[in-house]
Amino acid sequence: MTPAFVALRSGDSVRAQVIAAFADDGALADGITGFVARTSQADMAAAVYDTIDAGGTLIAEAGTGTGKTFAYLVPALLAGGKVLLSTGTKPLQDQLFRKDLPAVLDALRINAATALLKGRANYVCLHRMAGAESEGLLPTRDDVGHLRSIVRFAATTSTGDRAELAAVPENAAIWPMVTSTRDNCLGAECPRFAECFVYKARRDAQAADIVVVNHHLFMADLAFRDDSIRDFLPTVNTVILDEAHQLPSIAADFFGASLSLAQLLEAGRDARALGLARAPDGASWITLTSQFERAVRDLRLALGAVGLAIGTRTPLERIERRSDLQPAFDELDAACAELGRALEINRGRDAELDLLIPRLADLRRGLSGWSGALKTAASDRNENQFEEEGTGDAMPSVRWISVSTHGAQFNETPLRPGQALARAREAQPQPWILTSATLTAAGRFDHYLTEVGIEDALTARWNSPFDFAKQALLYLPQSMPSPYDIRFAQNVAEAAWPLVRANGGRAFILCTTLRAVDKVAERLRQLMALDDQPLPLLVQGASTRRALIEAFRSSGNAVLVGSISFWEGIDIRGDALSLVVIDKLPFAPPDDPVVEAKIRYLRKMGRNPFNEYQLPEAIILMKQGVGRLIRDETDRGVLMILDERVLTKPYGKTVLASLPPFARTRSEAEAVEFLTRRRAG
Ligand code: SF4
Repeated sequence: MTPAFVALRSGDSVRAQVIAAFADDGALADGITGFVARTSQADMAAAVYDTIDAGGTLIAEAGTGTGKTFAYLVPALLAGGKVLLSTGTKPLQDQLFRKDLPAVLDALRINAATALLKGRANYVCLHRMAGAESEGLLPTRDDVGHLRSIVRFAATTSTGDRAELAAVPENAAIWPMVTSTRDNCLGAECPRFAECFVYKARRDAQAADIVVVNHHLFMADLAFRDDSIRDFLPTVNTVILDEAHQLPSIAADFFGASLSLAQLLEAGRDARALGLARAPDGASWITLTSQFERAVRDLRLALGAVGLAIGTRTPLERIERRSDLQPAFDELDAACAELGRALEINRGRDAELDLLIPRLADLRRGLSGWSGALKTAASDRNENQFEEEGTGDAMPSVRWISVSTHGAQFNETPLRPGQALARAREAQPQPWILTSATLTAAGRFDHYLTEVGIEDALTARWNSPFDFAKQALLYLPQSMPSPYDIRFAQNVAEAAWPLVRANGGRAFILCTTLRAVDKVAERLRQLMALDDQPLPLLVQGASTRRALIEAFRSSGNAVLVGSISFWEGIDIRGDALSLVVIDKLPFAPPDDPVVEAKIRYLRKMGRNPFNEYQLPEAIILMKQGVGRLIRDETDRGVLMILDERVLTKPYGKTVLASLPPFARTRSEAEAVEFLTRRRAG
């Protein structure tokens, strides 16, 4: 621990110092430009401090503008000890590490060692990079250019974090070749171990007072899929999880199991490259790996042949003629076994080649598990199945297959991820703070508590300090199209257009499906042409999410049409975004294998799946979408909801009561006037 971890005013208790830091004349007002003292922020900071002091779990919802980041940073820093901060995404992680954390440390005049830690795939692997360079077998010119940039970057960077290398796109094909996985990393036996970026980041995290991670890394570690944090997690005094609404879905991913054809193909590629390079006389590597790859592709073809179309997610028991898949599984198993034998014969000749032996054995075990599951999957999934699973120690889960253009993935998703999360929580007794702007539905935490499985937590809510009734108008049109109407998406565009036009763009149109995105965008394009009012139209899929958001920010009059990934994690303040249009209530599709299984499971448990699961999930997501509009005290704007169910269905009242208390209108003229006035200043 850094000795310079100091208290602010040495006579006060730490709690008093926490509260004093948020005063009009406190350390934050003094050290942070534009800081405005807010009672709710100081109250939340005191509650966070009390949890750190007394132990336990605090689950805190803080409405937009409360300033929750400072409200947890200040008490955590003043309380001292090692702090683990986790947030939802890597960009948020970077912002916390590079902006908010240094600002608060400076303001509090605390000198503490900080570290940023990401999953290993984010760091250049010096050993694999050297291998890719010397083998010189890169398939495309782009790959060659990217590798050159990465080699130059690796020579000058101190972190090896690929986020610092903008010249190579995030999705470039080169990255898997120059980064490591747990399966192919040589660890202490690696010739580059001493200078390795992955292990340097871990050593820095181990030595730091404050470590910033993301939920994927945190959850992977809790689920024993990673070991970046495990070495120092027991030494952490406080765990803080921001954007905590994402935890249940991330936990469902990590506490489940999956096996993808891409993993198999990658193992085959590694076997061929390493075999040829390190044991060229050891086996007919090209023949063996070609057979193996052909068997993987044959399994993909077999999935298509039994009716699994591209883009579908299908539970095992719904696959008709699933016994037709067995020959493909058998062929792949045989190819796996043969490749495994060749590796075994060469054991001891090369450390990296040896790593492929357990890796292939794991994949083979996984395949055999899926082949067995397909044989035994009940034709009609019967609800009794959950009876044993739900009462015993085993976790109820659903098995399903997703198919993409060239690949497929076998998945097992737990239906109660909270059960696994709660076990992991019990094993880590330090205080935990979970916070987000959206954890409650209709003011209640019940649903979230069930989802995270933490029953003995303290819960608290702080409403946004914004004057929503003055700053924003909720517009519910007089005649809304039925969301079941075939022309619904076109109607959305037509209903939104007068507002978009009046506002000079500056609008987000948030849809619930990708199909709706395309249709709404198409109709908007026509309307712009008809009215001769061209505006920059940014449509999901045309570019990366980040590039679209940047384009929206810089254009100043754009219209962005996007689906669920645009409903959260976007902070655009001021004029640029002053109209948010929501097409439908974001209910999860009931025919999705996980949603469907969860509904059936809850019903079996005697619970009400709609009230206890589907509705609260939709409300929490709805609050995220609505939260894009007012980000600041000076923001003004209109929220338009086009789903008539908020008015016609009994649950509509609950939805509306969960949203910020905007002024309301059903008159288009009033909404247009609000926007026109806003533009006039
Ligand atoms: S230790 Fe692992 S991650 Fe580090 S350079 Fe070696 S192989 Fe790559």
